[in-house]
Amino acid sequence: MGVHRCRKCAADSVINMPQHRLALCAEHFMEWVEKSTLDFIEKHRMFEPEDRVLVAVSGGKDSLSLWRILSKLGFHADGLYIDLGIDAGCAYSKRSAEYVRKFARTVSPGVELHVLDLSSVYGRAVPEMAGRRAGGRKKLCSVCGLVKRHEMNRVARELGYQVIVTGHNLDDEAAVLFGNTLRWDVEYLVRQAPVLPADDLGLVKRAKPLARFYERETAAYAIVSNIDYIQDECPFSKGATSLRLKEVLNSMENGSPGTKLQFYYSFLRARQKGIFPGYDRPALQACEKCGQATGIPGLCAFCRLTAPEKATSPANCG
Ligand code: AMP
Ligand code: ZN
Ligand code: ZN
Repeated sequence: MGVHRCRKCAADSVINMPQHRLALCAEHFMEWVEKSTLDFIEKHRMFEPEDRVLVAVSGGKDSLSLWRILSKLGFHADGLYIDLGIDAGCAYSKRSAEYVRKFARTVSPGVELHVLDLSSVYGRAVPEMAGRRAGGRKKLCSVCGLVKRHEMNRVARELGYQVIVTGHNLDDEAAVLFGNTLRWDVEYLVRQAPVLPADDLGLVKRAKPLARFYERETAAYAIVSNIDYIQDECPFSKGATSLRLKEVLNSMENGSPGTKLQFYYSFLRARQKGIFPGYDRPALQACEKCGQATGIPGLCAFCRLTAPEKATSPANCG
């Protein structure tokens, strides 16, 4: 800080980004983040100005920044907070909800916040849904991922949103990519993209407009824009594996700035050219209960999980 001058106006910089050979002051950094987000949205055809966008907000820095950025860019973006019922002695979900509610009051008038409380809709929240599973081997995190994906989609569909956006950043995306690559998990690799199209089985389009930003960039954006966000990570979700993958990538990045970005971008380019022909998505069908797409006939993983009796394996955490 201070050592580097803003490239645009020569004031003291608030951030130096060696991977872009770019240092910027607060004002020009915000402008750069917003403009780069718009470029990324347009490049990947995430959504159009007339679309109604549903931002999945967790109360963390990424998703609240995303909501702010989209509003500043003039998109019609409403929020969705899912109360997962995670307490773990620190009232995690309740506190997250407070950050989201407080933030929602600062977004443009006319913007809505939808709050979905799992306990009131399904009679139980994520810890109970995970805990009742036979053997309990699957981590709470995979149930949580499944529930979030299903419920975001259901709400977006019922309320007529054209696209769901999440706050995943480059560190998240690169770590998932790295993990999938170590296992050569091609089924997941072909599905990893900044934008996934809608399908005719009621899957709503999904996009990750911040996937090109390093975590320290989204954190810096939240701070310079005075966004008050929950700083704790979910007490359960961050598995040792994803943290280790992030550590490895960070140590590579320190030695060679830009590694993460290049890893991700080169993958996207290769993916666009179809690196894995023959690995098309398996045939899907509509869940008998909720109508959302599922690989297996009958009930989808979510409906099996929330069925009154006997649950079977949910899908993996995405
Ligand atoms: P995570 O899986 O916790 O790393 O979060 C990834 C993204 O999912 C966040 O940036 C949000 O967009 C979304 N998200 C996570 N938790 C929630 C939640 N409780 N309610 C709504 N969206 C969420
Ligand atoms: Zn400047
Ligand atoms: Zn279902």
